[in-house]
Amino acid sequence: MRAVVVGGGIGGLASAVALTRSGWQVEVLERAAEFGEVGAGLAVQPNALRALDALGLGDAVRERASTEAPAGIRAPSGRWLSRTDPGELRRRYGQWAMVHRADLLEILHAAIPADALRPGVDVHEVRRDGTVLHSGGTSTGDLVVGADGIRSITRRSVWGEAPAPRYAGYSTWRAISNVPVRESVETWGRGERFGYSPLPDGRTYFYAVVNAPEGEEGGADELRRRFAHWHDPIPALVNAVEGTALLRHDTYELPNLSSYVAGKAALVGDAAHAMTPNLGQGACQALEDAVVLAAADGLAEYDRLRRPRTQMVVRRSHRLGVIAHWAAPALVGVRNTVLRMLPRSSFSRSMAPVLDWAP
Ligand SMILES: Cc1cc2nc3c(=O)[nH]c(=O)nc-3n(C[C@H](O)[C@H](O)[C@H](O)COP(=O)(O)OP(=O)(O)OC[C@H]3O[C@@H](n4cnc5c(N)ncnc54)[C@H](O)[C@@H]3O)c2cc1C
Repeated sequence: MRAVVVGGGIGGLASAVALTRSGWQVEVLERAAEFGEVGAGLAVQPNALRALDALGLGDAVRERASTEAPAGIRAPSGRWLSRTDPGELRRRYGQWAMVHRADLLEILHAAIPADALRPGVDVHEVRRDGTVLHSGGTSTGDLVVGADGIRSITRRSVWGEAPAPRYAGYSTWRAISNVPVRESVETWGRGERFGYSPLPDGRTYFYAVVNAPEGEEGGADELRRRFAHWHDPIPALVNAVEGTALLRHDTYELPNLSSYVAGKAALVGDAAHAMTPNLGQGACQALEDAVVLAAADGLAEYDRLRRPRTQMVVRRSHRLGVIAHWAAPALVGVRNTVLRMLPRSSFSRSMAPVLDWAP
């Protein structure tokens, strides 16, 4: 049986690994000239580590990760709004793995036969009968996996009526810094949020999310203007940003699709359920998709197992973003008071539907 995978990001490469291990002959078509990704860090949460374990790659990822669980949420002054108990989180759910994206892609890439990978191939159209038209000609599969991200050509070809991604109202900077930090923290201000996590090589992955009109620009100066007066180590992180690759992207999410499968095509990852990054679950869900797709007894079962779960995660992530990005002082005051009153265990309990997944 032949599978054509459109897109070689985390979802596409993980699908290729899972299908290869289930005996499929796989071809991965990736438009970029090389597989890989520049950029930033990625939280691989316990549910996704279990998916990677099912692919036999969990330990390779742990070896290249820092495994701190999130420590909690602070206010810009540094005051804790919500503290988690990282030990309790680990006992309850398992390990977290903060990795460089490029490392995760490299591990997935190495687990796929080299002749299955076709970089520099731009897909133009996908048909329900398993035909894929691309810059290198035509490929045909018993299965076509649309892993081509939020603007998926697979989705636009086969699900022509599907709604377009919508702007979530905030924009995100990401960077890797040489300034070290000890724990994974998020800090919530008014319509602004900052997060940082240690990477295993002593560097730090950080991100900053701000309410902004779609398409607004702004680089290191704007980042410093907004965050250089927040609690330590945020000033050091934003002041040292010069010379590092600072990424900025607007945040989009995909309205719910009524099916992830049509004919011989199935969607995985952002092509199926692009979500806001607030829960750090987009790639985690793509990894789950890959494992379930290869194990499912037919595409209808894949859709039945994956659509309700991923759409639940999209909704939760959206709701968290709304609250985290409140800007009105009265709302922020109420939010912060409630956060401070919640018991330590409430974050852990609230994450159960997302993190308690096993293949
Ligand atoms: C700021 C931010 C922070 C995030 N943090 C986290 C996190 O901590 N943890 C987490 O789990 N998730 C996180 N995410 C989400 C995560 O990045 C995505 O969900 C994940 O990368 C999606 O992977 P994918 O393979 O589905 O899509 P993509 O990564 O978009 O890959 C799609 C691939 O398809 C290729 N492609 C597209 N069109 C074509 C075509 N026509 N022909 C051939 N190839 C094509 C592209 O070049 C690309 O390589 C974050 C997202 C953002 C924006």
